[in-house]
Amino acid sequence: MRKCPKCAQRLSPLYFKTACKYCGADLLYYRFDERLEQDAQKAAAQEEKIQRLLNKLPFRKKR
Ligand SMILES: [Zn+2]
Repeated sequence: MRKCPKCAQRLSPLYFKTACKYCGADLLYYRFDERLEQDAQKAAAQEEKIQRLLNKLPFRKKR
C-alpha cells in the first residue's frame, strides 16, 4: 500500500498521478527527496568508516 509522505493518507497502488489526491503533495518530488536523503546518509556513514580507518593507521601517530 502506498502512502502519501506528507499527509500519510493511503493511496491505491493503482493511483498513478504524481500529486496526492488528499493534500496535493507532489509524490514524485517527495520520493526523490527521500532517496537523496538516504544517499546522503550512506555517504556520511562511508566517510565515517574511512576516517576511522585513517585514524588507525600507525604512520599518523608518528608525527
Ligand atoms: Zn497527501
